Formats: sequence, structure tokens, C-alpha cells
Amino acid sequence: MSFGRGLLTGLKVTLTNLTRRSVTAHYPDALPELPPRSRGVIALMEENCTVCMLCARECPAWCIYIDSHKETAPPAAPGGRERSRNMLDQFDIDFSLCMYCGICIEVCPFDALHWSPEFEYAETDIHDLTHDKSRLQEWMWTVPPPPALDASAPPPKEIANAEKAAGRQTPPPEREQ
Ligand code: SF4
Ligand code: SF4
Repeated sequence: MSFGRGLLTGLKVTLTNLTRRSVTAHYPDALPELPPRSRGVIALMEENCTVCMLCARECPAWCIYIDSHKETAPPAAPGGRERSRNMLDQFDIDFSLCMYCGICIEVCPFDALHWSPEFEYAETDIHDLTHDKSRLQEWMWTVPPPPALDASAPPPKEIANAEKAAGRQTPPPEREQ
């Protein structure tokens, strides 16, 4: 291609794009519309955590720090044995190391970790990117609700087990007309 022809082609591309509407989002004045399941930040539901350590062991970046102690609870019934349970003291995630792979959320057997689409937690000090358990718990408010169950599906076995333990019968699922 000759120099003159190449110049004309370049000018044509420039002029064509000059008349087009910009697709650039003017963040932070215009917030992006993200899918609800975006991987923004990890939220912790502390009540669900049994300190099983699976998430910390499987994290490929070693950026989950957990500490706990054992407490003894009185027996559930008179004459029973005392129960020992783990109490969570520390649960930190260092988001300066996190790869957002989601492994910790997938391996947690007790649904204690969830994705939140919130992403605005940049810091000027890298140490502030380590979120402690109270900050991770606060993110729970931003976790979208799970998708609705299929109306024709059998009730989840967890609900059936809970109903059985409470001595109630689970009503059959309502079918769509
Ligand atoms: S998302 Fe991946 S890298 Fe980040 S804390 Fe979880 S397991 Fe670790
Ligand atoms: S895998 Fe879940 S229950 Fe186990 S320590 Fe991690 S958050 Fe807690």
C-alpha cells in the first residue's frame, strides 16, 4: 500500500469513529451495570462458619487467615456429655493477594462464604486490603439472594430433614398451572 493511500485509509477510519457515539463509561460518574453474580468481594456469614479450615487449606494464594479456640458447652440434655465447639477468633482475607478464583466459596461445606458484586474497596494503604471478619460480614448485606427454586422440584433435603426433626410433615411442592 502506498504512503498516500495508507494515509487516506487512516483518515477515513479516524473520521468514521469521530462521528460515532462513545462507548466509554465515565466511571465513577456512571456506574457499570454488572451481572449480579460478579466476583467483586467475598462475604462471610460468620454464624455458618465451623472453623473447618477447608477454605484456608485450599486457597491457592494462602491469603485466608483463620484462628479459633475451643469452648465447652453444657450437655443438650441432663445426664448427657459436654460438647466442645470451635469459636472463631480471626477470619481475614487479604484481597491484595486474592486471585478471585472462588475456590474458597466452592469448597466451604456450610455456605459461609459468598460472592458479592461490590468492587469499590480500593485503598491507598495495601494493609487495608486485608478485611477482618467484621468487615467480611458487612459485605453479606450486598450479596444478591439466590435464584428461586424450580417450583416443580422436590423440596431440598435440608428442609425435609429440619421438618422431620421438628416433627412436621413437609407439604408437597406446588406445581405451576
Ligand atoms: S477467591 Fe481464591 S485466592 Fe481468593 S481467597 Fe478465595 S481461594 Fe483464595
Ligand atoms: S470452609 Fe467455610 S466453614 Fe470451613 S473455615 Fe472456611 S468459611 Fe468456615
